[in-house]
Amino acid sequence: MSVSLPSSPELPTPSYPAVLLGTVEAAYARYEQQAAQFMQGFVAQSGQVYCGAGCFGCCNMPIRLSLAEAALIASVLSETEAKRVEKHAHKVIHNAHQARSEDEYVLGHRLKVGYCPLLGPDGACTRYAVRPTRCRDTYSAMPAVYCEAGAWEAMTPAERRAYQQQVRRTPGTDGETHFIEPLEQLSEPVWQECARAMQLAWQLEAWGDFWVLVTLARSHDFMGAITAGRKGEALKVARRLGLEHPELLELV
Ligand code: SF4
Repeated sequence: MSVSLPSSPELPTPSYPAVLLGTVEAAYARYEQQAAQFMQGFVAQSGQVYCGAGCFGCCNMPIRLSLAEAALIASVLSETEAKRVEKHAHKVIHNAHQARSEDEYVLGHRLKVGYCPLLGPDGACTRYAVRPTRCRDTYSAMPAVYCEAGAWEAMTPAERRAYQQQVRRTPGTDGETHFIEPLEQLSEPVWQECARAMQLAWQLEAWGDFWVLVTLARSHDFMGAITAGRKGEALKVARRLGLEHPELLELV
């Protein structure tokens, strides 16, 4: 069964299998419940969570998701939002082609590509209910200053050593970065559910960049190829739209 989603006359949104969207929503709901339970225990044991409403320091990070999650987001975007996401996707692709290393890619994304176009002027996510898994599981166990783009690069060697010591002493981290690791681990079942839902719906999986995949999810040609299980054709459509990149769009 498919659901026809709200569309505009200029660019009707493709239909996505209802069961696929429902699986993603259910996986998100389970994640939220488990994450809330974890947080309660974490804070009760003196763990600190520095994230809160209006803090958007990580909203300029590259974000990876599944096409199943992208479809859920694409299904609710207005034309204006979709256009902003598409523009962002082209900047993401440009940065990826320019970057000579993973570090350069991430820094370029944060400093030049910039903040997610779904970030509101008040610093809140305008599409909180359908935000991707990665946006749900990124929580800081140290002050937001450490989440800022270029924070690590700006540190002196002594400051880096102090940061690393602090990370190792901070409960909830993996000892390498200041993010709360168990919340990231709780995402594993969400990824697995998304993979299973894509296999059931399309007999393939598509993974990649958030804004690239959301834009492609709104393309009838791309989704037609995906629905037909034609990976080569889907890649051709992505190339035609200027959204092909081996790491930002992976079909498996
Ligand atoms: S979807 Fe929302 S939470 Fe995620 S990066 Fe964009 S604005 Fe931030």
